[in-house]
Amino acid sequence: MTPVPEPIGPVDATKVPRFAGPSTFARLPSIDAVHDFDVAVLGAPFDGGTSYRPGARFGPLAVRTASRHLRTAYHPELDVTPFQRVQVVDAGDVPVNPFVIEDAISQIEAHAGDLVRDSSRLVTVGGDHTVALPLLRAARRGHGPVALVHFDAHLDTWDTYFGASLTHGTVFRRAHEEGLLVADHSMHIGIRGPLYDRSDLIDDARFGFEVLRASDLDRLGSEEVSARIRARVGDCPVYLSVDIDVLDPAFAPGTGTPEMGGFTSRELLGLLRRLGGLPIVGSDVVEVSPSYDTSEITALAAATVVYDVISLMARELGT
Ligand code: MN
Ligand code: MN
Repeated sequence: MTPVPEPIGPVDATKVPRFAGPSTFARLPSIDAVHDFDVAVLGAPFDGGTSYRPGARFGPLAVRTASRHLRTAYHPELDVTPFQRVQVVDAGDVPVNPFVIEDAISQIEAHAGDLVRDSSRLVTVGGDHTVALPLLRAARRGHGPVALVHFDAHLDTWDTYFGASLTHGTVFRRAHEEGLLVADHSMHIGIRGPLYDRSDLIDDARFGFEVLRASDLDRLGSEEVSARIRARVGDCPVYLSVDIDVLDPAFAPGTGTPEMGGFTSRELLGLLRRLGGLPIVGSDVVEVSPSYDTSEITALAAATVVYDVISLMARELGT
């Protein structure tokens, strides 16, 4: 029997300072450098589905740069050494057509489809939220329909915007219509702000989503919110989608459609860290728009979320 090789981890920060070395996520090996992988970080630098501030095409670049801050060896809250436990790689960026939404979506779907297999997991950095649709299609092909756990200020279940059906505000309606989600097991968390119409919420409920508003966290606390997420997804494979605008603009100014009254970064991390044990088969962290960022805080929040999601997956996958 061929012995299973030890995972190749990031560059050792005690030997090469964190501001030097490769520009991959957390200075991990690139996908070409390893024989096989368990978790891949993929960039989807597309922002042609944005309705307000553009710039999320530079999200993957900014999140990789910010990820240099991370000390990655041991995650004390989750008690895991993710990069020793499983092989994590940086799979680079999908080469997307910046002009044609349909082409970009096909390219992301094909690229992600090549990477998603039974035992491997993908964590994708956007890009605007449009990229979640092709990623959910790839997830369904690899794992069947999924329960969506969606952190966002916004529902993203509108029908069309200026006649366009594929935008960052319509992806989860399309996902529902395409049968990518297990019926009645999906949930939005962190929703807030005024809507175009009262019927937006009625439509959303009709598509089988449960909503936990940002204000519900004040009332229920993170223990109860995470319990409700677990109850909602049950035994289904989980796809975790994090729009960084779920954070308050004080914690994530560098995003396309900021909305007041959001979570602190500690609240978001606290909720994520209570999701240990869920079978997260795929994930994205989207809507980081670096030109609106200040002192890298949005990019660092996103990089930390990516690291936490990898750590959750590593706990689940590793032996
Ligand atoms: Mn949003
Ligand atoms: Mn969104």
